[in-house]
Amino acid sequence: MGYWIGIDLGGTNMVCGLLDESMNIVAKLKKPTLANQGADDIIQRIAENAELLLEQNLVNKSDLLGIGMGSPGFINPDLGIGVFSANLGWRDYPVAAQLQALTGIPVSIDNDVRMYVYGEAIQGAGRDHDHVLGITLGTGIAAAVVNNGKLYYGGGYMAGEIGHIPMDGVTAKCGCGLVGCLETVASATGIARQAREALQAGRSSILGEWFTGDNIQRLIATDVSKAYDAGDALAQEIMDYTGRALGKGLAAAVTLFSPDCIVIGGGAALAGERLFAPMREEIQKSVIPIYWDRLTIVRGELIDDGGVIGSATFAKSRA
Ligand SMILES: [Zn+2]
Repeated sequence: MGYWIGIDLGGTNMVCGLLDESMNIVAKLKKPTLANQGADDIIQRIAENAELLLEQNLVNKSDLLGIGMGSPGFINPDLGIGVFSANLGWRDYPVAAQLQALTGIPVSIDNDVRMYVYGEAIQGAGRDHDHVLGITLGTGIAAAVVNNGKLYYGGGYMAGEIGHIPMDGVTAKCGCGLVGCLETVASATGIARQAREALQAGRSSILGEWFTGDNIQRLIATDVSKAYDAGDALAQEIMDYTGRALGKGLAAAVTLFSPDCIVIGGGAALAGERLFAPMREEIQKSVIPIYWDRLTIVRGELIDDGGVIGSATFAKSRA
C-alpha cells in the first residue's frame, strides 16, 4: 500500500493530509504556520508535521510515495521554488529541495489556488468535465484552469490572477498597488468594505443598527449575508453589485478559455445564491450563447480538503 502526503500551506495554518493511493484522506493534521519565523523555520515545521502524521498513523516512510504542497504566492512548480510570497518570506526560496532534503521524500509544490482547483477538477466538482475553470473567493479572488487534466500556467507561471482585472467605476486601491481591481469588490474583504463605506456615507441599513461607532470595523461579509436574509436593501444592493462584478470578470475568462465547468470555492462562496444568481445572469448576458450553453457553474465539493487532495494528486501526477 502506497501513501501520499498533501499539504495546504496558509499564512496562518498548515493542514497536512495523509492520503491513500485512491486519494482518500486517511488522516489530517492542522498546525500553526508561524509565518513570521521565516522560511527555513516553516520548512522545518512542515517536515516535522509530515513525520508526525506518518508516526500517528503507523505508516512506514518507505510506503510514502511523495509529498505535494500548495503555497500562497508566486511559485515555480518546475523548479520547486517559492518565487515570491510576502507572508511566508519566499524570495526565490528552494521550497521543494529544502523539504526533500529534510524528509528524504520527493516533493512537488505549486500555488495554493492552482492546487485547490486541480483537486476540484480531478477529484471534486469538476471531475466529469475536461475543461475546468476554478476560482477561490476569499480575502481575495484567484483562478486556475485545468485543461484535459493539465494546469494552464502562462508565462512565469503567473496565469490566473483574475482578481487584478480592472473594473470600470471602481476606485478602491488594491493590495497589489493598482486601483479598481476586481477583488476590491468581489471578495469577502470587498463585500465588507462596500458595506462599511456605505454606512459611513450615511446609508441606512440594519447593518448600521448591528454595528455602531467603532464596531463597524468588525463588520464582515457574513454579516452582509445575514442582513440580506433580513431583507435589507443595502445588503441586497451590495450582493447584487458584487455578483455582477464577479460575473463580468468571469465572462471575460469564459470567452478566453471556454470552460465546460466553473467551480467556485473559498469562504466567500458561502454567500451562495445571493451572489451566484446575479453572477450567472451577468455571465449569460455577457458571452455569446454557444459559450453559455455548454457551461455548468457549480460550488466546490472538496471545500477545506481541496488543497490537501489537490496537492497530493498533483504530486502523484508529477511522480
Ligand atoms: Zn490588484
